[in-house]
Amino acid sequence: MIAELKSYRGVFCVRCGDPIPVSARVASLQDQIAQRELHTPHAFVVRCKLCEYESVYAVRHVQWFNGEPRKRIARVVEAFGPWERGKDRSELV
Ligand SMILES: [Zn+2]
Repeated sequence: MIAELKSYRGVFCVRCGDPIPVSARVASLQDQIAQRELHTPHAFVVRCKLCEYESVYAVRHVQWFNGEPRKRIARVVEAFGPWERGKDRSELV
């Protein structure tokens, strides 16, 4: 039995070097270029989930990464922060 290995296609962030997962559309562009289809865009814009830096990347720089793409854990904590503080304040009243 073969264990299921999670992997995704992405590029390395030019600023922080963290892998950025690319959309299925960008992944399909890579396949089209590999098949030498004409009129396929060779560049795309993607934003890093870690440092939020947006840049243009070449489709040929897309590669496979093992594991699962980074999740925005920091953002979830941030979103719940003010709500938690507000709740605490109302309990004091
Ligand atoms: Zn980054």
